[in-house]
Amino acid sequence: RQVYAQQQALEQHARSLELTVLERTRELVEANAVKDEFISIASHELKTPLSSLKGMAQLLHRRLLRSSSPEVASLVSMENSIRRIEVLVNDLLNISSLETGLFDLRCQRRHVAELTQCLIDEYVSGTNPQPVIHTHFPEEDFEAEIDVERLGQVVINLLSNARKYSVTGSPIKVTLTKQEQTYTLSVSDKGSGIPPEMLPFIFERFYRVPGIEVQTGSSVGFGLGLYISRQIVERHGGRIEVESTPGKGSTFSLVLPLPSASTSSDTSVEDAS
Ligand code: ADP
Repeated sequence: RQVYAQQQALEQHARSLELTVLERTRELVEANAVKDEFISIASHELKTPLSSLKGMAQLLHRRLLRSSSPEVASLVSMENSIRRIEVLVNDLLNISSLETGLFDLRCQRRHVAELTQCLIDEYVSGTNPQPVIHTHFPEEDFEAEIDVERLGQVVINLLSNARKYSVTGSPIKVTLTKQEQTYTLSVSDKGSGIPPEMLPFIFERFYRVPGIEVQTGSSVGFGLGLYISRQIVERHGGRIEVESTPGKGSTFSLVLPLPSASTSSDTSVEDAS
């Protein structure tokens, strides 16, 4: 009878533990949903005033340029600050669309080297001081199925990290190579590098290597860029790799699929989630 009583008590204990775990899980799921909603609303609300601020600054800049006013330097730094906030807000918007499943690709067939060069030009012209970027592209351009907006965001993010975690003026190298079924786009820097024990974490949400310094004038970031980049690359059917040596620099490589001979030339890949 004693053994039976003990068994009963144990079963009751197990049941109450099970209930506690269920309740905690429900609370966590609810808290997570509230967090996702908050991020989504906050980033949408921030985007509109930020766009008008950007528009006004650009207008003022154009007017002052004509009058060669000394205030132009302040306006340039104001525009740089707006651009940095814009990157942060876009990261938040992206994370919220990723988490809520509202994330789809609109792929079209594009020449990869030509597109990469356009992205580099866009990045260089919008960055002050302008970074030095060397390119190594294959002699003959080739095509791939690309969501220009999304993959462009990944390339810009890698370029911006390469600059951000290096000293001012340190050169960046962009290499494009074509394999049989894939192509590889690599961005290399001679910056701070990443300690090997931190490498497994850098693609996680909100992860930043502790104590790492950013180049003066760069924003610290939320630790979301690589997480978002990995999601985008994986949706393209590719992967993102990193090699890094502390004190020497890093190379981030996107390995992406080439279209198979049977793929049509203008497809739209919708979100599977
Ligand atoms: P963040 O907004 O902090 O730059 P990311 O997700 O882009 O976020 O990067 C995550 C972390 O990985 C960064 O905080 C940084 O510590 C490290 N990291 C990313 N790219 C580089 C790089 N090129 N060189 C050195 N560290 C890097």
